[in-house]
Amino acid sequence: MGIAWGSGTLEYATWWVSNTTPPTVVLAVPQDVVRGETPVGVRIEPSGRARIVEAQLDGRPILASNPLVVDTAGLPDGDHQVVVVAEDESRQRNRSTATAAVRSDNTPPRLTIEGRPEPVPQGGTWLLRLRSDEPAAIHATLGDRPLELQAADGFGWAVVGFGPDAPPSTVPVAIDATDRLGNRADQQAPVHVVPGDFPLDRVEVSASLLPLVAPEARAEEDRRLAPNYAKVTRPRLWEGRFLLPLQGSVITEFGTLRTYNGGPVVGHHAGVDLAAAAGTPVRAPNRGRLVLTDEVRLRGRVAILDHGLGVFTTYAHLSSVDAQIGDIVERGQPFARVGSSGLSTGPHLHWELWVGGANVAPLEWTERDLP
Ligand SMILES: [Zn+2]
Repeated sequence: MGIAWGSGTLEYATWWVSNTTPPTVVLAVPQDVVRGETPVGVRIEPSGRARIVEAQLDGRPILASNPLVVDTAGLPDGDHQVVVVAEDESRQRNRSTATAAVRSDNTPPRLTIEGRPEPVPQGGTWLLRLRSDEPAAIHATLGDRPLELQAADGFGWAVVGFGPDAPPSTVPVAIDATDRLGNRADQQAPVHVVPGDFPLDRVEVSASLLPLVAPEARAEEDRRLAPNYAKVTRPRLWEGRFLLPLQGSVITEFGTLRTYNGGPVVGHHAGVDLAAAAGTPVRAPNRGRLVLTDEVRLRGRVAILDHGLGVFTTYAHLSSVDAQIGDIVERGQPFARVGSSGLSTGPHLHWELWVGGANVAPLEWTERDLP
């Protein structure tokens, strides 16, 4: 007969007849959390003489392939048991079973939005605070403007300023969060901007001053200072509530509308005017960097502090600035003195606050914690 009795085939025949040792099965499950379908490698010894005959996920049969495809979509998050039964092809049909656990997460992060619940008036600052129940990459946009969220202990936040001319409307805030497995959640949180309550101030000035108070003169000066407020520097230097730069009564509120000599209403008052005697020290309301001193027509001697992340404070009608450009001034540290420079009827401090290029009410920052 033409049968070749090689050593291999003799060994096989012997094994086939007498083997009682069940196959060895090792499952290679991902150590990390998985999402959706995930392959599980199956190593079987003796290879070529044994195969998977049965596979289960959480007690339900699944296709006995190698690698196994374990689909966790639709299952609750957490551990799932994978069972594989292998059988050899010897006469005894020896079997063994291996089990392993796969941990799944198919749930997007759950976001909690802690916005300021009440509507935001024109000239107000909106604080967006977000919490996620798991680590996630979070993006937020306000209208079509991306918000740069800051990470804090367990939450993300952004401050958004609405200038006194911001149109009253509902501004959509879109937030998306993606966990490290790619599970993504989308959420909406509209902000309602409502009209501010701005007083009207009728001011009489001498005819010679009228050109100075014309809207064009204001606009020109605002344009000159505006580039300073467009910057976003890091890190955040402010911490906690802002102090008043000096103790003095409010002479003119933020946002006040003005008419001069019975003329048309010109723009909103960009800051709050605080009464103080000439020479009174002006203290930094919070930690910041002196980024500008200048002499301009309306605000006179002016100084700007950069508090980081697009938050700036401006001081006008000063008699002197006693810090150097680039200096960090600490919260409460005097850095300038009250004067009456520029368009001013007497010594006082004109104090402005800017958030992301929007002119907002400074006193709000002395009354609440942001963030
Ligand atoms: Zn003023």
